[in-house]
Amino acid sequence: MDAISQRNNSVEDKVAPFWIRKGLRFHCTGCGGCCGGAPGYVFLGLQDLKRLAEHHSLPLKTFLERYARRVDKRWALIDRPGTYDCIFLKNKSCSVYSARPTQCRTFPWWIDQIQDPKSWQEAKERCEGIDHPEAPLVPIETIEKEARSYLENILDQNFTSIS
Ligand code: SF4
Repeated sequence: MDAISQRNNSVEDKVAPFWIRKGLRFHCTGCGGCCGGAPGYVFLGLQDLKRLAEHHSLPLKTFLERYARRVDKRWALIDRPGTYDCIFLKNKSCSVYSARPTQCRTFPWWIDQIQDPKSWQEAKERCEGIDHPEAPLVPIETIEKEARSYLENILDQNFTSIS
């Protein structure tokens, strides 16, 4: 195993893989493309659920009944009926932006998208903000912080009861 392979084996290098040490270019244009139009899931951690329920001034159970669905053993937002758009996408904008789920908040710094250049190129096909001409260079420290938050949120999805 070479030095780079060894480094990529650690958790640290999942959130800051060697190849992005100089940063990556990204700027959200607000196109709304990542919020609908195609099948997908916005998975919710417990903290996401609590934040969104509070944002709507609803008890957690009521929020779940109105806006969430079970996918395997996790919770995910429902789509707008008859579409693949997020239930909270309105006029191409996020209507819960200040309380948006961590999965949305940390996009595009998901570990499966930054793990190697090929994955980043594939993500670019789905998001016009990646390598956008006006996109600033995002430093590795910022990417690492967001990727770590994304990972922690995945762990936060592993709960079994709602109180
Ligand atoms: S697809 Fe990319 S550029 Fe468009 S809203 Fe989503 S993050 Fe922003």
